[in-house]
Amino acid sequence: MNLKDTIRVIPDFPEEGISFKDITTLLKDKDALKDAIDQFTELAKDLKIDLVVGPEARGFIFGTALAYNIHAGFVPIRKPGKLPHKKISQEYVLEYGKDSLEIHEDSITPGQRILIIDDLLATGGTLLSTARLIEQLQGEVVSIMTLIELTDLKGRDKLEKYDVHSLVSYP
Ligand code: IMP
Repeated sequence: MNLKDTIRVIPDFPEEGISFKDITTLLKDKDALKDAIDQFTELAKDLKIDLVVGPEARGFIFGTALAYNIHAGFVPIRKPGKLPHKKISQEYVLEYGKDSLEIHEDSITPGQRILIIDDLLATGGTLLSTARLIEQLQGEVVSIMTLIELTDLKGRDKLEKYDVHSLVSYP
């Protein structure tokens, strides 16, 4: 199965010049969804992961399926104002302006082995902020996995101290 064949590319969305990778077409294809989760599971199965951490919103989709398969817990990373209990935040720079991500401060026990997963690695800002949140809580970031990597944006450089895997790449 070629996962790339199931990803729909939409030119000029959400704005002109952006080539949006739409994974809804992969998600609704039962063979592609299984293949993607199976590939993540194969990569993760011997890493002794305690928790899978996924950023809102598409990190939740792959994250919970993977966590189930490797018998790990799942922790969500959310946009500001969504988490109800005590939390810590990490700001990151966007092309225009700033955003931030939050995690419950009791979601990780120091020393736990963590796998981060998201749908797409672009500039790496989201995954780097996620890794920093985990490290503030003294979790160990063992691996970072994404379905898609946009290689020209060089997000991997920002994440050079981590073990990064992607299943499909585009320039
Ligand atoms: P980064 O922080 O620049 O690496 O951007 C990654 C985040 O933006 C991920 O959480 C993605 O869900 C989202 N994203 C960026 N470009 C796309 C795209 O083409 N398709 C789907 N999501 C995207």
